[in-house]
Amino acid sequence: MNVAAMQRLIAELRAAGIADEAVLEAIAAVDRERFVSGTFVERAWENTALPIAFGQTISQPYVVAAMTEALRVGPRMKVLEVGTGSGYQAAVLAKIARRVYTIERYKPLSREAERLLLDLRIHNVVFDVGDGSAGWPRQAPFDRIIVTAAAEERPQALIDQLAVGGILIVPVGRDPTNQIVERIVRTETGLRRDTLMPVRFVPLVAGPLPVLGQG
Ligand code: SAH
Repeated sequence: MNVAAMQRLIAELRAAGIADEAVLEAIAAVDRERFVSGTFVERAWENTALPIAFGQTISQPYVVAAMTEALRVGPRMKVLEVGTGSGYQAAVLAKIARRVYTIERYKPLSREAERLLLDLRIHNVVFDVGDGSAGWPRQAPFDRIIVTAAAEERPQALIDQLAVGGILIVPVGRDPTNQIVERIVRTETGLRRDTLMPVRFVPLVAGPLPVLGQG
């Protein structure tokens, strides 16, 4: 890992307002170079989203940091991630949480991420292939749920799978240039919602898998 470049990114995240030391430590510990390929490896520590396979992206480090901070993850928690992609966000969560369940609709992306995390000796992530907008009912409820693709509407199935005290972080919006990250908290008596920041994510695509992803 390019340690100097990593430290520059951590300084940049601090300057941008990320204050949770556990989040910063996790980002420092996960070698982002391993999650991109080709010429993008040199750019792995830039604070920018980068392309991965199947037209998807590995999120911008600031967005990963801010969403993970907003999730308020603790070491005993069971976390669900929708949108495994490269596995980077799952790896960051795995450094903080007890166990991470992550769903991806493209099987090759999921397989690749699983291989990579094992190679990185991250053993507390469980992978599944399918439509994550339905959540993971057999493993519910979750203490924390994070969606790393943009939902057109608040995903009710995921809200239903939140434990009491649970937090869901999800980018919501129909317009790809205008999505807002929402935080939904399940309390003893109902739901509380606030908004965090504007983002640009690839869409959360519900329904059957594309043929390409079934290989
Ligand atoms: N968290 C990823 C970035 C996610 S990009 C990382 O750290 O690299 C968004 C991912 O969500 C893409 O890989 C896309 O295929 C996946 N996705 C989109 N809709 C989905 C759905 N309904 N269920 C599961 N995964 C989905």
